[in-house]
Amino acid sequence: MAQDQPPKAPAPLAGALDIAGFRAELLGWFAANARDLPWRRSLAPYEVWLSEIMLQQTQMDRAVAYFERFLRRFPDVSTLAQAHEDEVLKLWEGLGYYSRARNLMRAARTILTEHGGVFPATFEAVRALPGIGPYTAGAIMSVAYNAARPAVDANVERVLARVLDIDQPLSAPAVKRRILAAAWELVPENAARAFNQGLMELGALVCKPREAYCPDCPVCAHCLAHARGTTSQRPAPSPRPEIVRVDMACGVLVTGGLLFIQKRRPDDVWPGLWEFPGGVMEPGESPEQAMIREYREETELAVRPAGKIDVIRSSYTRYRITLHGYFCRAEPGQDARTGHRLHEAVEARLVRPAELSAYAFPSGHARLVSRLLTDVRLGELLAAAE
Ligand code: SF4
Repeated sequence: MAQDQPPKAPAPLAGALDIAGFRAELLGWFAANARDLPWRRSLAPYEVWLSEIMLQQTQMDRAVAYFERFLRRFPDVSTLAQAHEDEVLKLWEGLGYYSRARNLMRAARTILTEHGGVFPATFEAVRALPGIGPYTAGAIMSVAYNAARPAVDANVERVLARVLDIDQPLSAPAVKRRILAAAWELVPENAARAFNQGLMELGALVCKPREAYCPDCPVCAHCLAHARGTTSQRPAPSPRPEIVRVDMACGVLVTGGLLFIQKRRPDDVWPGLWEFPGGVMEPGESPEQAMIREYREETELAVRPAGKIDVIRSSYTRYRITLHGYFCRAEPGQDARTGHRLHEAVEARLVRPAELSAYAFPSGHARLVSRLLTDVRLGELLAAAE
């Protein structure tokens, strides 16, 4: 959805809403109820940008913890621009959607080389940075610079779908256009920072996804869904995406007192993250068979299972992933240090268990790391002759 320019279509709220009253009530409520969030204390563009990127696909509580940790290590554009990718990905581990972290680094380098290290202050320049779409650019411009631009995130979409009592799903392009046009009309010239944050806050605290607490709502008098009794049906449901189940298996090779890990290719899913070799089970295969086959295909090493570590279940967009994790041993005659040939990775390392914490893994493998480090069999495998 383009938020770059105001719509040319007639303003959808004219005559339908007391815009001045809506603004005044929302702003008054936000002034009294705004949460104390770390990026709201400074309103520095760098911090607003970082928070907006982290809040995409991430719950507020988690984002706050990651934000504070990230900001301590990378307090400004310059330190982030000079960071090593492995360290940034490690700090991002657990947040998912790692392209966000890589785009942060790319954008920081662009700011350093093209803007003298100063965060840009125009919508066009902010929008041109890697990883910044129209919503994020609008949010940065309004929150950091108080520019009169809308910032329509999922919370704002939901609030406005209820206020306007829109009976079509939010996924419909015409609905997105209508909501965006309404947001352009509502945002006040001199108070965009508080107004946009207020709309988002209203969606987060009062007009929630599953329940709207209308008696506590500052804009209740302006809300068509509340007036018509349709609140529980708004937003109108979107068609559910088909869920895809994926079974995978991987092997944690223990050899010579060390563990084998490999780094994923830059053009693959989760680029640059580390993992244990493995992959998708084929029809009719057992998890052990899949692990052995995948190990051979990805590294040309022949391994045998040495005990199941755990079954890790995780979700990624519409995928429901079941990962079977195994300890494994190299078959006689196999030398993992010199005998591997990588086909799905750019680099492999043999590391001590204590060193695993320095590497960023996709969430399923990161959880497997936690499990294996507390598994008593690990110590036995590390110490035993092969
Ligand atoms: S009145 Fe209820 S449905 Fe309408 S915006 Fe407020 S909380 Fe949401």
